[in-house]
Amino acid sequence: MKLAKRVSSLTPSTTLAITAKAKELKAAGYDVIGLGAGEPDFNTPQHIIDAAVKAMNEGHTKYTPSGGLAGLKAEIIKKFKEDQNLSYEPSEIIVCVGAKHALYTLFQVILDEGDEVIIPTPYWVSYPEQVKLAGGVPVYVEGLEENQFKITPEQLESVITERTKAVIINSPSNPTGMIYTQEELAALGEVCLKHDILIVSDEIYEKLVYGGHKHVSIAQLSPELKKQTIIINGVSKSHSMTGWRIGYAAGNKEIIRAMTDLASHSTSNPTSIAQYAAMAAYSGPQEPVEEMRKAFEERLNIIYEKLIQIPGFSCVKPQGAFYLFPNAREAATMAGYHTVDELVAALLEEAKVALVPGSGFGAPDNVRLSYATSLELLEKAIERIKQFIEQKM
Ligand code: PLP
Repeated sequence: MKLAKRVSSLTPSTTLAITAKAKELKAAGYDVIGLGAGEPDFNTPQHIIDAAVKAMNEGHTKYTPSGGLAGLKAEIIKKFKEDQNLSYEPSEIIVCVGAKHALYTLFQVILDEGDEVIIPTPYWVSYPEQVKLAGGVPVYVEGLEENQFKITPEQLESVITERTKAVIINSPSNPTGMIYTQEELAALGEVCLKHDILIVSDEIYEKLVYGGHKHVSIAQLSPELKKQTIIINGVSKSHSMTGWRIGYAAGNKEIIRAMTDLASHSTSNPTSIAQYAAMAAYSGPQEPVEEMRKAFEERLNIIYEKLIQIPGFSCVKPQGAFYLFPNAREAATMAGYHTVDELVAALLEEAKVALVPGSGFGAPDNVRLSYATSLELLEKAIERIKQFIEQKM
């Protein structure tokens, strides 16, 4: 069967592919350490699970409004007010099947064939594919390593054309862990306002910030920027709820209405039980969120120091999320490989450590390590990588 043109150039998610390959090797009896995961390794807090069980027992197992339960929207609105002092109406919020689905739906409703979306590199793997699936064209801007992988207003302005519809800002960033400061966001925002470009602000790692760094939403900076921005967020990373699939978008009413109409013909609604669980995530105690954040920070501080001891690895210290994104170009050369992709493949086959090659994020000299796993395994994995490279030198 000939498949639709739409999917002919679709590449599967690199991160999910690596995780699957590592699991496959593990199942075959190999002692593989997987550092590819994009999800917290903690259990979902018990009170959230209890809320889901209660919802089921109370019969909340039916369709919900397509845009999400009123009660959950109310909790999301409260959260925006408390965390960012942002005020939204229920009509400015849509609950989706994860932040990924919120982004997918957003691009479907804002892009016409040939419309351009500016994507800073390194980027989260799904952005370009989602833009292309909506008929859009990804336009890349290189976040330089010497500028902590962040783009400048001049760089942004230099790629704007008549077809530019939106720019994606992901702070804290997957894969780099970098955070844009308030000043940097204000400067980028000015360019977006000047050229009337929609800002897609993916804030899914908002709660995972370290070393005293703060998350600021670009929408907080002025009423004009709030109008210009669609915020994407969710409970996957903050509350260790990746499998529950609850994310959301907040912003312009017309856009949210179109997204809700589209959802009404695709998903109908996010799972009712998961919505009740997300409601409990926001209304209940937030201590578990802070405990997880602290655990990630402790791991980061220990593991970062060890990582930079690996010959040929250099790394900007991440400020948020749960990834390290070292440059391994020199290590690849020293170990006799032409590319970092080849090094990553050899590390999996020979050293039995699964990393994600930076090429999937638009940064072919880098590799991504997730530290969403135990410190013991992280230390073991870093030791394996170090020994592997030293042996090959
Ligand atoms: N945005 C970024 C930058 C991510 O890293 C992820 C998950 O890996 C998502 C969005 C999607 O999150 P969700 O699980 O809510 O779909």
